[in-house]
Amino acid sequence: MECSLTALNSVRISVQDTGAGLKPEQLAQLFQPFNRLGQKTKEEGTGIGLVVCKRLIDLMNGKIGVESTVGKGSVFWIELDLTIDPQTDIAPHHQSESLSQLHDGALLYTLLYVEDNPANLMLVEDIIARLPDVRLLSASNARQGIKLARATLPDVILMDINLPGFSGFDAFNMLSDDPQTAHIPVVALSANAMPRDIEKGLEAGFFRYLTKPIKVKEFLDTLDLALKFAKTEAARLAKKEEVS
Ligand code: MN
Repeated sequence: MECSLTALNSVRISVQDTGAGLKPEQLAQLFQPFNRLGQKTKEEGTGIGLVVCKRLIDLMNGKIGVESTVGKGSVFWIELDLTIDPQTDIAPHHQSESLSQLHDGALLYTLLYVEDNPANLMLVEDIIARLPDVRLLSASNARQGIKLARATLPDVILMDINLPGFSGFDAFNMLSDDPQTAHIPVVALSANAMPRDIEKGLEAGFFRYLTKPIKVKEFLDTLDLALKFAKTEAARLAKKEEVS
């Protein structure tokens, strides 16, 4: 796969294979629905994949194309306009009002996200990139997440539930059993979105239970609450230490 700037304001993403390649007459039929270019027996399919791709790219004012050499393989590419900023559906100053109220000077919050799905991680990275005072750490499984939590003591943890190996519930229990990490608010974030799942999560002691797909506003509001909670909790623990 290759990614390059084609003009000042557009990007081309190409995917190359070393397959059989396509003849010019096959190339001409490539974006026709239900046309499988004579490939009837080997691979299953209906022949609409590329048609759907083309339609999607057209809707985004992009371009899609292919260059192919018989016997050598093909390069499929798409071209899309660049945006100035990541386009998430939040007003740019949404967070500055609420989060700034609890920011003292150079205070920096750490959010640890335990998530095995790169797409969700990327979305959260995009959102957090807009919050200058929040630093994001991530782990792709529970074991790594717990290790990182113990080493960095983040202010808030965001926990996927379906993880490879230990589940988000297992990880949460291990964090709660450890006096070092027991005070950290853990927000569950899961595709298990039935009312019973949410109830089970809250019963287990998660600070909040958010469901996927991630809703940016709900996510930011919850993060705001969790950070406020973490700050109060930190102050309470510091006071307790002073007294004892
Ligand atoms: Mn997962």
